[in-house]
Amino acid sequence: MTSQHILRINEIFTSIQGEGAHVGRPMHFVRVSGCNLNCVYCDTIENKSGPYFSIDEIIEKVSSPWIYPVFITGGEPLMQEESLFLIIQLLSGNREVHLETNGSLDLNAVAPKAIKSVDIKTPGSGAGGSFLKSNLDFITVRDDIKFVITSKDDFDWAVDITKEWKLLEKTPNLIFQPAWGFIEPASLAEWILPCGLPVRLSIQIHKHIWGPDTKGV
Ligand code: SF4
Repeated sequence: MTSQHILRINEIFTSIQGEGAHVGRPMHFVRVSGCNLNCVYCDTIENKSGPYFSIDEIIEKVSSPWIYPVFITGGEPLMQEESLFLIIQLLSGNREVHLETNGSLDLNAVAPKAIKSVDIKTPGSGAGGSFLKSNLDFITVRDDIKFVITSKDDFDWAVDITKEWKLLEKTPNLIFQPAWGFIEPASLAEWILPCGLPVRLSIQIHKHIWGPDTKGV
Protein backbone atom coordinates (compact mmCIF):
# COMPACT_ATOMS: atom_id res chain seq x y z
CA MET A 1 0.00 0.00 0.00
CA THR A 2 1.53 3.30 -1.04
CA SER A 3 1.05 6.68 0.57
CA GLN A 4 -1.26 7.93 -2.18
CA HIS A 5 -3.76 5.33 -1.00
CA ILE A 6 -4.25 6.93 2.39
CA LEU A 7 -7.41 8.92 3.15
CA ARG A 8 -8.11 11.36 5.95
CA ILE A 9 -11.39 10.22 7.48
CA ASN A 10 -13.63 11.98 9.97
CA GLU A 11 -15.79 8.98 10.84
CA ILE A 12 -16.99 5.60 9.64
CA PHE A 13 -20.35 4.38 10.91
CA THR A 14 -23.41 2.33 10.02
CA SER A 15 -26.83 4.00 9.90
CA ILE A 16 -30.01 4.53 7.95
CA GLN A 17 -29.76 6.63 4.81
CA GLY A 18 -31.52 9.84 5.77
CA GLU A 19 -32.15 11.52 2.43
CA GLY A 20 -32.41 11.19 -1.31
CA ALA A 21 -33.70 8.41 -3.55
CA HIS A 22 -32.26 5.69 -1.27
CA VAL A 23 -33.74 7.07 1.95
CA GLY A 24 -34.39 4.49 4.66
CA ARG A 25 -31.80 1.92 3.52
CA PRO A 26 -29.16 0.66 5.96
CA MET A 27 -25.72 1.70 4.76
CA HIS A 28 -22.13 2.03 5.87
CA PHE A 29 -21.05 5.68 5.83
CA VAL A 30 -17.52 6.87 5.22
CA ARG A 31 -17.24 10.56 6.07
CA VAL A 32 -14.14 11.97 4.42
CA SER A 33 -12.53 14.99 6.14
CA GLY A 34 -12.45 18.48 4.69
CA CYS A 35 -14.53 20.57 2.30
CA ASN A 36 -13.85 23.34 -0.19
CA LEU A 37 -17.16 25.15 0.48
CA ASN A 38 -18.68 26.84 3.51
CA CYS A 39 -22.45 26.49 3.34
CA VAL A 40 -24.54 28.44 5.85
CA TYR A 41 -26.44 25.32 6.94
CA CYS A 42 -23.45 22.98 7.14
CA ASP A 43 -23.58 20.53 10.05
CA THR A 44 -20.26 18.87 9.27
CA ILE A 45 -18.00 21.87 8.65
CA GLU A 46 -15.94 21.09 11.76
CA ASN A 47 -14.90 17.83 10.16
CA LYS A 48 -11.59 19.10 8.83
CA SER A 49 -9.46 16.69 10.79
CA GLY A 50 -9.36 13.02 11.60
CA PRO A 51 -7.07 10.03 11.39
CA TYR A 52 -5.61 8.63 8.20
CA PHE A 53 -6.73 5.20 7.03
CA SER A 54 -5.50 3.01 4.22
CA ILE A 55 -8.01 1.89 1.60
CA ASP A 56 -7.72 -1.65 2.98
CA GLU A 57 -8.52 -0.47 6.50
CA ILE A 58 -11.59 1.42 5.30
CA ILE A 59 -12.85 -1.57 3.32
CA GLU A 60 -12.38 -3.78 6.36
CA LYS A 61 -14.43 -1.40 8.51
CA VAL A 62 -17.34 -1.35 6.02
CA SER A 63 -17.38 -5.11 5.59
CA SER A 64 -18.23 -6.27 9.08
CA PRO A 65 -20.47 -7.50 10.55
CA TRP A 66 -22.84 -6.74 7.66
CA ILE A 67 -22.43 -6.08 3.97
CA TYR A 68 -24.46 -2.96 3.25
CA PRO A 69 -24.00 -0.41 0.48
CA VAL A 70 -21.18 2.05 1.16
CA PHE A 71 -22.02 5.77 1.10
CA ILE A 72 -18.97 8.00 0.77
CA THR A 73 -19.68 11.50 1.98
CA GLY A 74 -17.99 14.46 3.65
CA GLY A 75 -17.11 17.19 3.76
CA GLU A 76 -16.32 16.85 0.12
CA PRO A 77 -14.88 13.41 -0.73
CA LEU A 78 -13.38 14.55 -4.04
CA MET A 79 -11.09 16.97 -2.18
CA GLN A 80 -8.94 13.89 -1.64
CA GLU A 81 -8.08 12.15 -4.88
CA GLU A 82 -7.75 8.89 -3.00
CA SER A 83 -11.56 8.75 -2.72
CA LEU A 84 -11.52 7.71 -6.37
CA PHE A 85 -9.33 4.70 -5.51
CA LEU A 86 -11.62 3.77 -2.63
CA ILE A 87 -14.60 3.74 -4.98
CA ILE A 88 -12.76 1.57 -7.52
CA GLN A 89 -11.62 -0.88 -4.88
CA LEU A 90 -15.09 -1.23 -3.39
CA LEU A 91 -16.64 -1.73 -6.83
CA SER A 92 -14.06 -4.38 -7.68
CA GLY A 93 -15.33 -6.25 -4.62
CA ASN A 94 -18.86 -6.09 -6.05
CA ARG A 95 -20.01 -3.59 -3.41
CA GLU A 96 -22.77 -1.07 -4.09
CA VAL A 97 -21.08 2.32 -3.81
CA HIS A 98 -22.64 5.76 -3.45
CA LEU A 99 -20.80 9.08 -3.61
CA GLU A 100 -22.20 12.31 -2.19
CA THR A 101 -20.53 15.39 -3.64
CA ASN A 102 -21.21 19.12 -3.50
CA GLY A 103 -21.05 19.41 -7.30
CA SER A 104 -18.17 21.87 -7.45
CA LEU A 105 -15.43 19.39 -8.39
CA ASP A 106 -15.00 17.47 -11.64
CA LEU A 107 -16.90 14.15 -11.76
CA ASN A 108 -15.09 12.95 -14.88
CA ALA A 109 -12.80 10.55 -12.98
CA VAL A 110 -15.51 8.99 -10.79
CA ALA A 111 -16.09 5.34 -11.71
CA PRO A 112 -19.36 5.22 -13.72
CA LYS A 113 -20.76 2.36 -11.63
CA ALA A 114 -20.79 4.51 -8.50
CA ILE A 115 -24.22 6.01 -7.72
CA LYS A 116 -23.85 9.74 -7.26
CA SER A 117 -25.76 12.26 -5.17
CA VAL A 118 -24.79 15.65 -6.57
CA ASP A 119 -25.69 18.99 -5.00
CA ILE A 120 -26.44 22.14 -6.93
CA LYS A 121 -25.86 24.87 -4.36
CA THR A 122 -28.54 27.56 -4.25
CA PRO A 123 -27.83 31.29 -3.77
CA GLY A 124 -29.06 31.02 -0.16
CA SER A 125 -26.54 28.29 0.64
CA GLY A 126 -23.70 30.78 0.69
CA ALA A 127 -21.99 28.68 -1.98
CA GLY A 128 -24.10 29.72 -4.97
CA GLY A 129 -22.32 29.54 -8.31
CA SER A 130 -20.07 26.69 -7.16
CA PHE A 131 -21.68 24.03 -9.35
CA LEU A 132 -19.51 22.85 -12.22
CA LYS A 133 -22.00 22.74 -15.07
CA SER A 134 -19.89 20.29 -17.07
CA ASN A 135 -20.74 17.75 -14.34
CA LEU A 136 -24.19 17.42 -15.89
CA ASP A 137 -22.52 15.26 -18.57
CA PHE A 138 -21.85 12.61 -15.90
CA ILE A 139 -25.32 12.45 -14.32
CA THR A 140 -27.31 9.30 -15.14
CA VAL A 141 -30.79 8.05 -14.24
CA ARG A 142 -29.29 6.20 -11.25
CA ASP A 143 -27.99 9.43 -9.70
CA ASP A 144 -29.63 12.10 -7.51
CA ILE A 145 -29.46 15.83 -8.10
CA LYS A 146 -30.18 17.70 -4.87
CA PHE A 147 -31.14 21.27 -4.05
CA VAL A 148 -31.08 22.23 -0.38
CA ILE A 149 -33.63 25.03 -0.14
CA THR A 150 -33.25 27.86 2.40
CA SER A 151 -36.08 30.18 1.27
CA LYS A 152 -38.82 30.78 -1.30
CA ASP A 153 -36.26 32.63 -3.41
CA ASP A 154 -34.07 29.53 -3.38
CA PHE A 155 -37.06 27.40 -4.37
CA ASP A 156 -37.93 29.65 -7.32
CA TRP A 157 -34.28 29.61 -8.39
CA ALA A 158 -34.16 25.80 -8.21
CA VAL A 159 -37.30 25.52 -10.34
CA ASP A 160 -35.81 27.87 -12.94
CA ILE A 161 -32.53 25.93 -13.05
CA THR A 162 -34.40 22.61 -13.29
CA LYS A 163 -36.21 23.85 -16.38
CA GLU A 164 -33.36 25.79 -17.95
CA TRP A 165 -30.83 22.95 -17.59
CA LYS A 166 -33.43 20.22 -18.35
CA LEU A 167 -32.39 18.32 -15.21
CA LEU A 168 -35.33 15.90 -15.35
CA GLU A 169 -33.97 14.61 -18.66
CA LYS A 170 -30.83 13.59 -16.75
CA THR A 171 -32.48 11.79 -13.84
CA PRO A 172 -35.92 11.36 -12.29
CA ASN A 173 -34.26 11.66 -8.88
CA LEU A 174 -34.48 15.41 -8.44
CA ILE A 175 -34.41 16.08 -4.71
CA PHE A 176 -35.72 19.28 -3.10
CA GLN A 177 -34.74 19.31 0.55
CA PRO A 178 -35.61 21.94 3.15
CA ALA A 179 -32.52 23.35 4.86
CA TRP A 180 -32.86 22.34 8.50
CA GLY A 181 -33.63 25.40 10.65
CA PHE A 182 -34.31 27.63 7.63
CA ILE A 183 -37.70 26.54 6.24
CA GLU A 184 -40.33 24.03 7.31
CA PRO A 185 -41.03 20.93 5.18
CA ALA A 186 -44.70 21.99 4.99
CA SER A 187 -43.70 25.28 3.33
CA LEU A 188 -41.66 23.44 0.74
CA ALA A 189 -44.56 21.05 0.11
CA GLU A 190 -46.87 24.03 -0.47
CA TRP A 191 -44.44 25.49 -3.00
CA ILE A 192 -43.81 22.17 -4.80
CA LEU A 193 -47.42 21.12 -5.32
CA PRO A 194 -48.44 23.97 -7.67
CA CYS A 195 -45.10 24.09 -9.52
CA GLY A 196 -45.90 21.14 -11.79
CA LEU A 197 -42.49 19.47 -11.57
CA PRO A 198 -42.18 15.79 -10.48
CA VAL A 199 -39.48 16.55 -7.91
CA ARG A 200 -39.11 14.69 -4.61
CA LEU A 201 -39.34 16.37 -1.22
CA SER A 202 -36.73 14.81 1.09
CA ILE A 203 -36.72 15.67 4.80
CA GLN A 204 -33.53 14.18 6.33
CA ILE A 205 -35.24 11.41 8.29
CA HIS A 206 -32.15 10.76 10.44
CA LYS A 207 -32.78 14.10 12.17
CA HIS A 208 -36.38 13.05 12.84
CA ILE A 209 -35.31 9.61 14.12
CA TRP A 210 -32.34 10.62 16.27
CA GLY A 211 -32.77 14.36 16.78
CA PRO A 212 -31.84 17.64 15.09
CA ASP A 213 -28.17 17.46 16.08
CA THR A 214 -27.65 14.30 14.04
CA LYS A 215 -25.23 15.16 11.26
CA GLY A 216 -26.29 15.07 7.65
CA VAL A 217 -25.12 12.18 5.58
S1 SF4 B 1 -20.65 21.21 0.73
FE1 SF4 B 1 -21.54 19.97 2.39
S2 SF4 B 1 -19.82 19.59 3.79
FE2 SF4 B 1 -19.20 21.28 2.43
S3 SF4 B 1 -19.73 23.17 3.54
FE3 SF4 B 1 -21.47 22.65 2.21
S4 SF4 B 1 -22.88 21.42 3.49
FE4 SF4 B 1 -20.85 21.45 4.51
